[in-house]
Amino acid sequence: MKVHNFNAGPSILPKEVVKKAAQSVINFNNSGLSILEISHRSIDFLDIIEKTTFLIKRIMNLDDDYTILFLQGGATLQFSMIPYNLMNQIAGYLDTGFWAYNAIKEAKKFGKVKVLFSGKEKNYTYISTNYHIPCNMDYFHCTSNNTIVGTQMKIFPKTSIPIICDMSSDIFSRTLDFCQFSLIYASAQKNISSAGMTIVIMKKNILGKFRKNIPSYMNYKTHIQNNSILNTPNVFSIYTSMLTLKWIKNQGGLSLIEKKNQKKAKLLYDEIDQNNLFENKIHKNNRSNMNVSFFLKEKNLEKEFNKMWKKENIIGLEGHRYLGGYRASIYNALPLKSVQFLIEIMKEFERKFS
Ligand code: PMP
Repeated sequence: MKVHNFNAGPSILPKEVVKKAAQSVINFNNSGLSILEISHRSIDFLDIIEKTTFLIKRIMNLDDDYTILFLQGGATLQFSMIPYNLMNQIAGYLDTGFWAYNAIKEAKKFGKVKVLFSGKEKNYTYISTNYHIPCNMDYFHCTSNNTIVGTQMKIFPKTSIPIICDMSSDIFSRTLDFCQFSLIYASAQKNISSAGMTIVIMKKNILGKFRKNIPSYMNYKTHIQNNSILNTPNVFSIYTSMLTLKWIKNQGGLSLIEKKNQKKAKLLYDEIDQNNLFENKIHKNNRSNMNVSFFLKEKNLEKEFNKMWKKENIIGLEGHRYLGGYRASIYNALPLKSVQFLIEIMKEFERKFS
């Protein structure tokens, strides 16, 4: 059955990746064991960690100043780990949406937070580039893609303090100068792998200046010393991320992936803009290429539209429960054909109801 998967996360993964992961659940590397049965201290798994680390650095063009960790607790745990490890007195945060706000809420438990810009008054439909970052702060935190409302930062500030970025919903989707960031984190369940693993990419030199008595799991240093196996990691999710990274490399790396993503997003935004029945509320400079949000201009047509797309095996188009409307998550692995199919449905809906 052909299904068009617009889920926001966990979400679509490349078919080849799912197939290979499924084979490895039965028989990993002809070992007679399932990937679910191997030891996290085996040579096979150490090899997976090494290859995954290598691929991330290669794809993002990062040198050995950076270290890569594979942790648990989602991006949510990073909201606390970051200030626990890196905040001495005060940090600057951008409040650009639900997840950014959650990061702020947690950071406030560890020190002072200065919100340098908040999009709240404009319902998070806009991200300013016009804010000042005082250089006496411990770090600056931002969220590159706001999954719920559907905005994306296109420009990152220049500053002398470390930039920390939650890239959970757009990592590996575009080219950027990744060296401008001192710490990047992303939970796996969108562009990377199955849920249950978080990638943390950090410049080694930002650590260890402040708190000493950090509990082991919350302490980046312990994870670095233990090569991400301080405790039993999510072996399957890390393995699957290795497969996805190989897929990204075989697709031609981030520049080609980015072109495909831009094409899919443009097609969909163009349709929303010209279709009489739909609207997108995001400032044009901040439209996300990963999560495309849209609303019916006339809410009373909701039932009819829902009936139409659901009948066609389109999955996950409902907007987030806080926002309503619709959200098409068009991550790396979503084929162009699925976007074109959704557009056909939107056109047909317009023909019938406008
Ligand atoms: N940040 C962003 C941008 C997200 O989209 C999400 C989850 N959708 C999170 C953080 C939280 O991730 P997790 O549920 O893995 O903790």
